[in-house]
Amino acid sequence: MNSPADTPKVQIPSLLSKLGKMTAIRDTSLLEQSLLKTLCPMLGVLDSSLYRIDELTQAIRVLHHHHSRVIESDGLARMVERNEEIYNSAKVPAEVSGLLENVRLLGKPCTRRKASGEGLLIAYPLFGGKEICGYFVFNRDREVTLTEDAIVKGVLEVFSNYFDLLDASQRDRLTGLLNRQALENSFDRIWTILSSADDPIEAPSGRRTDSNARAHWVAVIDIDRFKEVNDNFGHVVGDEVLLLVSRVMMSVLRSSDLLFRYGGEEFVALFPAKDSDDAHALLERVRATVEGHYFPQVGHVTISIGLSRASTNDLPQEVLSWADRALYHAKKTGRNRVCDYQALVQEGVIEQASYGASELF
Ligand code: GH3
Ligand code: MG
Ligand code: MG
Repeated sequence: MNSPADTPKVQIPSLLSKLGKMTAIRDTSLLEQSLLKTLCPMLGVLDSSLYRIDELTQAIRVLHHHHSRVIESDGLARMVERNEEIYNSAKVPAEVSGLLENVRLLGKPCTRRKASGEGLLIAYPLFGGKEICGYFVFNRDREVTLTEDAIVKGVLEVFSNYFDLLDASQRDRLTGLLNRQALENSFDRIWTILSSADDPIEAPSGRRTDSNARAHWVAVIDIDRFKEVNDNFGHVVGDEVLLLVSRVMMSVLRSSDLLFRYGGEEFVALFPAKDSDDAHALLERVRATVEGHYFPQVGHVTISIGLSRASTNDLPQEVLSWADRALYHAKKTGRNRVCDYQALVQEGVIEQASYGASELF
């Protein structure tokens, strides 16, 4: 971590301005992208990655940031940024996971020569409190200088502290799930992803995921007759059921799917799926797993689910109200069911709603 030619390339005003921009962000995913965008040019590298360990599932999520120079049709060179999010830890190359294991054991940055012989692979730990909650990784042809090392550590510390604060403000205290505020942010982000997939001319800026091009679905999930749980066993047991139901649902959903506590005993799931059959099948597994779970004292609890396809032609609130109408239908027709709004409309079971007929708003 040292070099005789330890001249800082980083200008202090530019660094402070970047930190200022970073801490103005109100969304954790955008904040992660901003971290990589800030550090790449400081280190003079085009690629960097953020590995984050999911607290609940221990799965690793990887955000790759790639900066490249392309020559446009007008003959001018431009820098293009691409972010790609990966949720499958099996895709982490062996040499990277070996390096991360050393960083985890030592609790400090580690470097190794790449197996291909092309330069060095360098990894820094990311701390959430005292625990390591992720890693910042990049390739470079030379070691990090002392100044660069101090800057990277400082930026990572500011990032981690701010990330924790932002993350806490986006989470529900009882279940640890994302809250209603986070749902609004996620809608904005997913609608942006979907509209960039709709428009092949637009450059793929912002977050690109494996599932970008796929359709997304919104589900409203409500615990059946939950008032009876409270009435019969008290609020403390009721709270425990809420927490357990959320954990059981998380265990079925994939780590890339988003689950929010929308309020009381209501949840919203936001996830990509190939078609309505796939979306339905996933939620049917969620429903059946909750039904099959044994809750201490209470016994069995069921949930009803309403589902709607998310399309950029429609407002997020509109899609949410459709899923809620499908949920209402599931409740009316016996509970412990999954109902699909578009299917119900197609079958003539319910009428196409005009916007404003929402039960939620
Ligand atoms: P339905 O099947 O029609 O959804 O019936 P329900 O009893 O689940 O619905 P209702 O809306 O009548 O009651 C919801 C209950 O959820 C009432 C409220 O006391 C309870 N609840 C909401 N938030 C919390 C919470 O944070 N903790 C606990 N213990 N109970 C909560
Ligand atoms: Mg309920
Ligand atoms: Mg309810």
